[in-house]
Amino acid sequence: MNREIMLAVGFSKELALIDEGKCPRCSSEIDHNFTDELSQKEFKKSGMCQGCQDSFFGPPSPAPTSFISNPTVGHVLAHAIELKRNKKG
Ligand SMILES: [Zn+2]
Repeated sequence: MNREIMLAVGFSKELALIDEGKCPRCSSEIDHNFTDELSQKEFKKSGMCQGCQDSFFGPPSPAPTSFISNPTVGHVLAHAIELKRNKKG
């Protein structure tokens, strides 16, 4: 981490927290139990704890399933549209 740059861009509060061994994002104590080498490296750069790194970078999440592509929802929806048509007709 480049201290001068951090200070120059106004991260003095965050730097103070890092100096206290705390996370600059959530202000909690760093337990140094990082899940992998990448997290350890990120901590050295940003000083963020594991929890904040997880929420900041996001764990790999499954692709959101489409409402219509759900077979049950799709079926119910098709049925509802059919009922509506029948009422109109
Ligand atoms: Zn944190």
